[in-house]
Amino acid sequence: MDKNQSTGLLFELSHPGRRCHLLPECDVPAPPAEELLPRDVLAEAPPPLPEVGEVDLVRHYVNLSTRNMAIDTNFYPLGSCTMKYNPKRHERLSMLPGLANLHPLQSDASCQGMLELLWQLQEVLAEIAGLDAVSLQPSAGAQGELTALLVAHAYFRDRSEESRTRVLIPDSAHGTNPASAALAGFEAVTIKSGPRGLVDLGDLKAKLDDRTAVFMITNPNTLGLFDHQMTAISELVHSHGGLIYLDGANMNAILGITRPGDFGVDMMHYNVHKTFTGPHGAGGPGSGPIAVRHRLEPFLPVPVVINTDQGFRLEYNRPKSIGRVRSFFGNVGILVRGYCYIRTLGPGGLRQVSEDAVLNANYLLSRIKHAYEVPHGDRCMHEFVASARGLRRERKISAMDIAKRLLDFGFHAPTVYFPLVVPEALMIEPTETESKETLDAFANALLQIREEDAAFLHDAPHTLSISRPDEVKAAKEPVLRWTSETVKSRNR
Ligand SMILES: *Cc1c(COP(=O)(O)O)cnc(C)c1O
Repeated sequence: MDKNQSTGLLFELSHPGRRCHLLPECDVPAPPAEELLPRDVLAEAPPPLPEVGEVDLVRHYVNLSTRNMAIDTNFYPLGSCTMKYNPKRHERLSMLPGLANLHPLQSDASCQGMLELLWQLQEVLAEIAGLDAVSLQPSAGAQGELTALLVAHAYFRDRSEESRTRVLIPDSAHGTNPASAALAGFEAVTIKSGPRGLVDLGDLKAKLDDRTAVFMITNPNTLGLFDHQMTAISELVHSHGGLIYLDGANMNAILGITRPGDFGVDMMHYNVHKTFTGPHGAGGPGSGPIAVRHRLEPFLPVPVVINTDQGFRLEYNRPKSIGRVRSFFGNVGILVRGYCYIRTLGPGGLRQVSEDAVLNANYLLSRIKHAYEVPHGDRCMHEFVASARGLRRERKISAMDIAKRLLDFGFHAPTVYFPLVVPEALMIEPTETESKETLDAFANALLQIREEDAAFLHDAPHTLSISRPDEVKAAKEPVLRWTSETVKSRNR
């Protein structure tokens, strides 16, 4: 049986009568099923489940699991996503029964340890941000954006400035930024990037007026560039009465080096799963706490953890709060991992994280920039964006071809076709947790691919069991559940 067959569908391995184990006949007399359950809920026939032996079952799932790329098996330079190694120590600590087995409906008095941990995390995140107050509730960066914009909305309503209906967003921003603005009831207005990939101050000035509620900026931005115009930007936005929001997805570049609050930011989100390590392939779980300035604090979601003379408490009594944004208390499992990570490294260690992340990205950039076009690529922060525009024009090799071919070398692909301001973008973020040998192997693969035949690249990957699935069909018509019917229709 070759590898492909052994990772086929479980239904295809099915043989009538096979079982993983056989239990002896039950010798306890049981009443007929009809006496236990109403007749109309009883199935007429057993469900059509695959019938397989234990060895086949174990091999099936273990083989399937090896088809995934993961940070524990492969280098994963997925730009913007900060796929750094998740230290196993923090996985283990977060599983301690005293933490993992808490119930969210327990009384505050019975979970003082957890509340203290969360309170300390609020304090530490405020400190790293250079801001005053934190809400740990949002479950992802995108939800942090929405929460903070709802806070801004409540803040302006409280000041009777409801005419502030616009959120200004650079064209290099992540798609979640305009989506969050729209969800929070604002109008999203695009600000152009200038020739150096930074905010075009002229365009910002032209669009700033008394309708501006918030300017959302990602800094360093999605091109891996730090916008050093930040002081000018914050003076401009503040002089028009607007707030500055930082999309903090790129905090991995600036931990302990600069603080958003010090460069004019009024509110921001963290992606704990990115910057402070939570395993987050395949869409979750995440955690997106927000940090805000003092004057926005009354509007934060409830509950907030507070430290009182009688111990730690969840406080709900905040009359101006926007209310809950999530059930219970956020994605506590990821918050605990983030807490362990931050406490393990300490201030000096966090700064070194960012210094090493920036060093690794610049090393990789220097190894490939003679072979690939990198539009703003003299230097970068923790990531950079190469472009296959020229390769596509001259040799019909696209960013997608390069991404797919990298899989053959055992590397996860970089982020492709984002940010939108770079055509044929390949967004590469190595993170600080990779060795020089890994970075060299990845650079060598990119240099080799650059020389390969276009037709060969169009068919890549050549070594994986699935080559190029129809990604649109997979998204539009997802088959989320295999049944024996699915198999029949597939075989037709
Ligand atoms: C990841 C990311 C987001 C969204 O964060 P999630 O945690 O995935 O919701 C927003 N902006 C940028 C720049 C990102 O990289």
